[in-house]
Amino acid sequence: MGDVQLKEIGTLEDVCPYCSALLKKRPQRKAKCRDCGHFILVRTRPADRKRVLVTEHQAEEIEAQWTEIHSVPPCRISWKEGFNEEKQRLTTKFGHEPSDNDVTWSLLNKELLDHSAKQHWGLYRNALFEMGEVLRAESKLVEALSRYLEVCYLDLNGPKNQGPIDESERKLLREMFGEDIRPFKSEDGELYPGMLYYAEYVIRKLGLQSDAVRDRFLSAAATLQKALGLPVSAEAAWTRLKNELFPS
Ligand SMILES: [Zn+2]
Repeated sequence: MGDVQLKEIGTLEDVCPYCSALLKKRPQRKAKCRDCGHFILVRTRPADRKRVLVTEHQAEEIEAQWTEIHSVPPCRISWKEGFNEEKQRLTTKFGHEPSDNDVTWSLLNKELLDHSAKQHWGLYRNALFEMGEVLRAESKLVEALSRYLEVCYLDLNGPKNQGPIDESERKLLREMFGEDIRPFKSEDGELYPGMLYYAEYVIRKLGLQSDAVRDRFLSAAATLQKALGLPVSAEAAWTRLKNELFPS
């Protein structure tokens, strides 16, 4: 797992994990402490793959760590309208049948352009996430992470699906609703646990530490901010994202 910062649970010493009494002989399996009478368990902890002596509660914590390491987030690529037509088009274009992922990728690229033209930034964000999912399905984890980080950055900017509005419409809407209609509302910006789960999973798989993720995030976010004129700066967004991804 490389640089994953997992808590080191249990003890490497020959002592009781409950009462710290010195043990004459290090148990190889479940054994009762002569001093406190509790059951000492022996487990391999994920943090360093070492065999440690643990309490019953710590054994459950280790179990939970293993479960988390082995759990893979479900793939969230939705079936797309026009899939068969696009497959046919690409087959003709390339002279061979493309993979399903290639077809989905092509459709997602079109979606991005479409949402961008219509200023449907919430939908744009969803398409970006699905691109990350296609990349993850193809084991391109570094690229998948970039997409997930872009999604987090957009989420912090509060993307809206209002569509393009000209000045007179804007004025009218401002009079009707008493507020400005904007493509991004940073006051609605937030990070979603479901999204963070995917980013965390890939970061863990890649064994990346905070600095490496920061560099990746800032470069991806800077490009987006410039292209879309986003209200939240990349640095400010990173501060919030870091608190979630790497809580200290
Ligand atoms: Zn004891």
